[in-house]
Amino acid sequence: MDEFCENLTEKLRCLSSDFDEQRYDDDDFETATSAEQIEVEDSVQKCIQVIKNIVEIDPKCPTLLREKHLQFLKKGLNVLPTTLQVLDASRAWLIYWILHSIQLLDEPITEELKTHIIGFLRSCQHPDGGFGGGPGQDAHLAPTYASVSALCILRTNEAYAVIDREKLLQFLLRMKKPDGSFTLHKGSESDIRGVYCALSVAKLTNIWCPELIKGTAHWVSRCQTYEGGFGGVPYMEAHGGYTFCGFASLVLMGQENLININNLLRWLVHRQMKYEGGFQGRTNKLVDSCYSFWQGGTFPLMHRVLCLMENETMSTDNWLFNQGALQEYLLVNCQTPHGGLIDKPGKNKDYYHTCYALSGLSIAQHFASGHIGKIRVVGNEENELCPTHPVYNLCVQSALEAVEYFKNLPVPSVPSEYQNDSNKNV
Ligand SMILES: [Zn+2]
Repeated sequence: MDEFCENLTEKLRCLSSDFDEQRYDDDDFETATSAEQIEVEDSVQKCIQVIKNIVEIDPKCPTLLREKHLQFLKKGLNVLPTTLQVLDASRAWLIYWILHSIQLLDEPITEELKTHIIGFLRSCQHPDGGFGGGPGQDAHLAPTYASVSALCILRTNEAYAVIDREKLLQFLLRMKKPDGSFTLHKGSESDIRGVYCALSVAKLTNIWCPELIKGTAHWVSRCQTYEGGFGGVPYMEAHGGYTFCGFASLVLMGQENLININNLLRWLVHRQMKYEGGFQGRTNKLVDSCYSFWQGGTFPLMHRVLCLMENETMSTDNWLFNQGALQEYLLVNCQTPHGGLIDKPGKNKDYYHTCYALSGLSIAQHFASGHIGKIRVVGNEENELCPTHPVYNLCVQSALEAVEYFKNLPVPSVPSEYQNDSNKNV
């Protein structure tokens, strides 16, 4: 740990005497939504009661069940459980979710496993560029993001070399629409996730070019809703996943000034639940651990933008959400005793929620990084995860090494049919 490391030694939030005052008040007017909210808070309260009993004998709790989570994760790389066979088109995703979780937990990946994964992802790459969800499947922007990210996690030249950058750029350009948006696959509709997936892999692998982003920032800015968050396409409801994709895309393009930052900040800070401590995805919805990253990961991006705008007035200690409360929600309510993390108490574990709960936990533990970084770990020091890069959601080391590797390679040329009019005759 670096010299600025500090441990959060204060009492757990749920142990304070006035904690129950944070519970939801339905003003004696019950609706389906209010009943569900109260039900979730009841289940959270039960988990808190268990922790209150344990903390009397073990003041270091809550503890991250690191070994159990690793067992669950490694099992997923061996065989796809029968219940997950419906995810056959998401095998590249499963690899990313599992590898990223393993890396966050600071567990090395064996050379044998690396070779196996590289071979598998190579078979997912489409001959015309991009990656499919499994071998022989059509290329799709979502598994393309997952595959490229997974290969970057491995941090070897062999892994980087799998990516056919020339064909990848052609695939991204084929997915681009005249209005600046991206379709996820051939023949599908546009969606803000497509923009993020395309821009993230383009930036990582150094195939970024003006043709790729022409009109895109403007299209993304149109997805900001009256509430302040982003919808999947213009005029849709603001949602945590789309908001991360939209804002991270603007950050990648350096065009954050196109949107109303204050509205986004107001919407974002109101998504952290008062009692549970985790985030909801949309207004009036229930807490869900995956938004620990989709909402939580947007805060570091927001912090940087606000620092540039407001400079001295920004905190140099914490993100603009309650980092301790989020860690408490995840550690107390979302860990299953046999490994794996869940959306909320009562739900089943899965690799998606494990990945994004751990990613959010990492964000909540680390403020900034490098020489100004501050580490605030709830529970005990051993709960600390590796820091994740908030733009790519790759551990910082993997993101930086990939950028470093690809920046030395030439940017592939853009086929003439995709060249901007102004470039065509040059
Ligand atoms: Zn979820």
